[in-house]
Amino acid sequence: MQRIIYLDNNSTTKIDPEVLDAMMPYLKEKYGNPSSTSHTFGREASAAVDIAREQVADLINAEFSEIIFTSSTTESINLAIKGVIENSEREKIHIITTKIEHKAVLNVCKYLEKFGVEVTYLSPDSSGIISPLNVRENLKPDTLLVIIMSANNEIGTIQPIGEIGELCEEKNILFLTDAAQSVGKIPMDVKQLNIDFMAFSAHKIYGPKGTGALYVRKLGDKNLLYPQIHGGGQEKGFRSGTLNVAGIVGFGKACEVCKRKIFDEFNKHTVWRDRIIQNLNAKIEGTFLNGHPVKRIPNNINIGFKGISNSLFINEFSDLAISTGSACSSETLEPSYVLSAIGRIKTEISCSIRIGIGRFNTEEEIEYIIKRIPDGINKIKEKLL
Ligand code: PLP
Repeated sequence: MQRIIYLDNNSTTKIDPEVLDAMMPYLKEKYGNPSSTSHTFGREASAAVDIAREQVADLINAEFSEIIFTSSTTESINLAIKGVIENSEREKIHIITTKIEHKAVLNVCKYLEKFGVEVTYLSPDSSGIISPLNVRENLKPDTLLVIIMSANNEIGTIQPIGEIGELCEEKNILFLTDAAQSVGKIPMDVKQLNIDFMAFSAHKIYGPKGTGALYVRKLGDKNLLYPQIHGGGQEKGFRSGTLNVAGIVGFGKACEVCKRKIFDEFNKHTVWRDRIIQNLNAKIEGTFLNGHPVKRIPNNINIGFKGISNSLFINEFSDLAISTGSACSSETLEPSYVLSAIGRIKTEISCSIRIGIGRFNTEEEIEYIIKRIPDGINKIKEKLL
């Protein structure tokens, strides 16, 4: 059987064996419900969730009491945006976000517009950066919330979150960041960055799918949010439903491992990323990079080869698991709205691919693709002649 190299780590990641080992007891013998603390099963599940909450909080410099467990980044974003709006007593509500957010943000905003919420969608510059000045200029007296992702899932560009957080703090406006692509990859300190809400999930950091978190600044102090899932009152009433104990334990472990490895992986992946970009640029005529050359997460490469459309690419490279769409929404087959927002035209968009490197890639694999992609593209070009 042909070996396929996994290079789609911005989409999702392989579960780390350490994480799986931590989860297994909670799928087998330790199956208690953490809300049923009248017996040992429930108490051991509850204690495991406490440890995981501590581990998740620790990775982002949050307090234990500021983490709400959910099913995904998508759910965390829904809870933050809808929860803040529903909780607000203002008559007019204005939100600022960007044209390059994940659909988890854009479609919630679109939905809320139907109910009279006004949304401003900021454009990025050609490298994908949202300028804090642009945020400032678009603030209105009724701006309640600013939503800006920490790093983009397609082009990897890192936003000036610290400056935007400071601005929101100064103006007393709430700030939500979608950190699905940045947590565990670059240091994310919610206090230093002045973040009010941060959404992220386990499956992007070598943890299980179906587990997410919402960080809420001083959740206990201020009544900031209105719950979106009502029921048994778990997660202090902010997110009802029996907790996914094994998933949460895995999420906690994944965060602990990331905390240990973040600097080594940052350095290793940055070197690999830049080596791949430089080699492809040098060896393939008509190569162009999408996104910022430096202000980008270490595991993302979004690159285009003029004249080599996605379908030609997929046919040639069946040995590489690479994304040709916007990963999480590539089922839609529409040209990427992110690449379009940074000024790429249709023909450039259809020639762009995303390589997402990760913890389980090896030096040999990186060397292999540096040779394999130029060879394959030459083959395609010969066939096209
Ligand atoms: N936001 C970003 C930036 C993402 O990359 C993803 C990935 O799929 C999501 C949100 C959605 O995450 P989830 O699958 O955990 O809902």
